[in-house]
Amino acid sequence: MSRVARHRVQPCYDVFVQLSVAGQPQTDLVNWQRRGLPEIVVAGLYLHVPFCFHKCHYCDFYSLPRQTPERMERFVDLVLREAQGWAQGSRGPVVRPESVFFGGGTPSLLPVDAMRRLLHGLRNVFDLSAVTEWTIECNPATVDVAYCRMLHESGVNRLSFGAQSFDERELAMLERHHHPDDVRSSIKSARDAGFERLNVDLIYAIPGQTMASWEKSLDAALALETEHLSCYGLTYEPNTPITARQRSGQIVAAEESLELAMLHHTRRRLAAAGLPAYEISNYARPGAECRQNLMYWNGGSYIGLGPAAASHVQGWRWKNRSDLRAWEAGVERDEPPAADVECLTARQRIGELAMLQLRLTRGIDFDSFHHLTGVDARHEFADLLPRLAGLGLIEQHAHGVRLTESGLNVADAVSGEFIG
Ligand code: SF4
Repeated sequence: MSRVARHRVQPCYDVFVQLSVAGQPQTDLVNWQRRGLPEIVVAGLYLHVPFCFHKCHYCDFYSLPRQTPERMERFVDLVLREAQGWAQGSRGPVVRPESVFFGGGTPSLLPVDAMRRLLHGLRNVFDLSAVTEWTIECNPATVDVAYCRMLHESGVNRLSFGAQSFDERELAMLERHHHPDDVRSSIKSARDAGFERLNVDLIYAIPGQTMASWEKSLDAALALETEHLSCYGLTYEPNTPITARQRSGQIVAAEESLELAMLHHTRRRLAAAGLPAYEISNYARPGAECRQNLMYWNGGSYIGLGPAAASHVQGWRWKNRSDLRAWEAGVERDEPPAADVECLTARQRIGELAMLQLRLTRGIDFDSFHHLTGVDARHEFADLLPRLAGLGLIEQHAHGVRLTESGLNVADAVSGEFIG
């Protein structure tokens, strides 16, 4: 359910070619990551739990419905084994997370004992003493107070609930199988268990949704008084049932003008409620921003565990195999379960960081940009910045440049200019 901007850049397959034949990881490539990756401390850890109760019609994240508890126990065994692969040896990146994020899929679908074993197992593998934020995504109706209490007692301090809408017809349109009341009871369970940092995910521009029904969902979410809200416009990903229904004319996508009106209403409404936007789709009380996501948008390094999990270490990127069986087989043979490896050039990293930071409300911060890349964004984009400012798409502020309200409407196109 987590949404990190997905960007494709020209892949550099030099090392991938050395490491694989016809895309298949080779047996002699155990600990391949230690051969070429920089020896840095990696401060982010992501773990992908590939199980869902049911496949929502808009979702293109890798997940499998209807898996047995035995399969989930086996997943826990293997993901801990994959983690151990990163903890062993004396070379390569050192995983010492400051933030941990369990996404999916539906992590809260893991049975309580399996989840406890996973949480404690990770503590035995990695040094987690620096972790300040540990988030787990939950679906409403998959947790009760006992489950939340176990998470809290195990060191998890932030939960994210996929509410998506508080309108039953819109939930049905998305093929979500929970009731709006399930969100309320899940939030109560989380509060009763002691959680002080909660997020609710919402989706707007759902077919049939009106501005009035979106306002009602926003108000219902605000009434829960969570510290963080994520609001995403519905996207029609290839090969999803909702896209097939749209193509066949069974449903009609929201007009772009309505979607933009919903975006701008959301920004005003949530800012007035004390949760200003800090990123295009994310809103928080000051200090309650998601640290893992901020790390992504500032080009940080993270290791991903589990099938389909993405990783990034100083310009090296790869994604684990998006197939549970293939991932299981790779981990069991102590082979890297990566299916794709990219190495960005220095110029690509600079462009990508600009693109990511532009998603943030503060935009490209010149000092932080220089600190992270060694280059001055004003010089690097000496032609582009005045051109975009002349078009009214970005504006300069005391510390850098950011999207204007008009720029926000075409944010992807503006961001794309920086990696062109
Ligand atoms: S619960 Fe989340 S990950 Fe699972 S199918 Fe629905 S949107 Fe996708």
